Amino acid sequence: MRRLKIILGVIAAATLLGLVHVLLPSQHNPFRRPDLTEPMGLATYGKLTKLKRDERLCRQVLSAAGVEYSILPADEAETSCRLAETLVLERSLTPYNATPLRMSCHQMAALYVWERNIARPQAEKLFGSPLRQIETYGTFSCRNIAGTATRSQHSYANAIDIAAFVLEDGRRISVQDDWRARDRSGKYLKRLHKGACRLFSVTLGPDYNAAHADHFHLDMGRTEACE
Ligand SMILES: [Zn+2]
Repeated sequence: MRRLKIILGVIAAATLLGLVHVLLPSQHNPFRRPDLTEPMGLATYGKLTKLKRDERLCRQVLSAAGVEYSILPADEAETSCRLAETLVLERSLTPYNATPLRMSCHQMAALYVWERNIARPQAEKLFGSPLRQIETYGTFSCRNIAGTATRSQHSYANAIDIAAFVLEDGRRISVQDDWRARDRSGKYLKRLHKGACRLFSVTLGPDYNAAHADHFHLDMGRTEACE
């Protein structure tokens, strides 16, 4: 009798888990395949993190989302910053002012999700104007974190510095000028920073230190920070 109860209990638990798996929307379900076009949810960060360990899956989900990229072979030329095979962003949802943007696959995936769910819809919501361009200081750069002996995530093509946003109506919102503004521009930048913290491993802005007074640093490295 006791054994029967245990068996029935196991069947009930398995059925319940199966139901949760089927009914839980994919963005909240860490066991579902990553999909960069689904809304953000409880499992989004975990799924983006999973892409760090699965390059093949990462490239598949980027392509499935319509992100266009080319593949750069491993680069040993810069001896202090040897790079494994990386991607170059060809086309995302929003044009960038600087090219080429060389990035790891998972960094490109997080950037796409941020554009899609935060940067673009918030521009429409706060200004009623689509986002025309994102201004960046670049991605790959063989250097240390300013003032330290530690390699920056930029030296692994695993980070991007973002300085400003240009809207279709001509308005330009820059981290340097508008971060502390008590208007829609300030609110826009705060929302973008907060949203980035839900997607990237590290999000740094002007409140972090003077070196970030004019840009957001977003990376998918091993540490985690939201400042
Ligand atoms: Zn940076």
